[in-house]
Amino acid sequence: MSNIQTHYRTCNLCEAMCGLEIQHNQTEVLSIKGDKDDVLSKGHICPKAVALQDLYHDKDRLKTPIKRTATGWEKISWEAAYDEVAEKLRSIQKKYGKNAVGSYRGNPTVHNIGLMAFGAPFMQSIGSNQKYTATSVDQLPHHFASLMMFGHYLMLPIPDIDRTDFMLIMGGNPAVSNGSIMTAPDFSNRLKAIKKRGGQVVVIDPRFTETSKIANQHFHIKPGTDALLLLALINIGNLY
Ligand code: SF4
Repeated sequence: MSNIQTHYRTCNLCEAMCGLEIQHNQTEVLSIKGDKDDVLSKGHICPKAVALQDLYHDKDRLKTPIKRTATGWEKISWEAAYDEVAEKLRSIQKKYGKNAVGSYRGNPTVHNIGLMAFGAPFMQSIGSNQKYTATSVDQLPHHFASLMMFGHYLMLPIPDIDRTDFMLIMGGNPAVSNGSIMTAPDFSNRLKAIKKRGGQVVVIDPRFTETSKIANQHFHIKPGTDALLLLALINIGNLY
């Protein structure tokens, strides 16, 4: 029986948090589009969110734990999976030390209440210092600067992109990262809007990037000289 419905959700793949309009017939996803009425993303969506439909219906998607055996993959119960994982973690750490177990947590973790509440305590109980996340790949310096300057690694200053008249971007490519750590979906159009209202977008980056293409000005400094440039700016600032 056809029972086509539309529901509205937030994309959980990255921190831009785009609003999604999902049309489905019972458990079959028919389409995923950007929600034009979402106040933050205003209809923007990237290919990753469109592909959620493919992920959802992928015939290889795991819906139950499986175990590799001599004769191939076998479905096992959650209880058996938990027991096996607990036993293996214990024996690996006993043999090779606590740090022999590492973890990697990706972006969607922060959109999941269970993982947010229990991921960190779980890793604490494991006692390993081998903890990796999307943060360790691309934003740890940002967290470190916030810790040093404001006392907490999550006190992240967010640029007021929609009201600023001058945006300086150093070594970042937010047109592609969708404004990671800025929660700014459709970053390219937000940058264009600065120019439209008479503002300036300036990019400092050795590379030509999608962001530098949009900027009013692009300064190609030599790779590795960003600290020198910043020291020079501080020096000039001190003169006034
Ligand atoms: S930018 Fe893409 S992945 Fe990130 S929240 Fe929006 S649709 Fe999802």
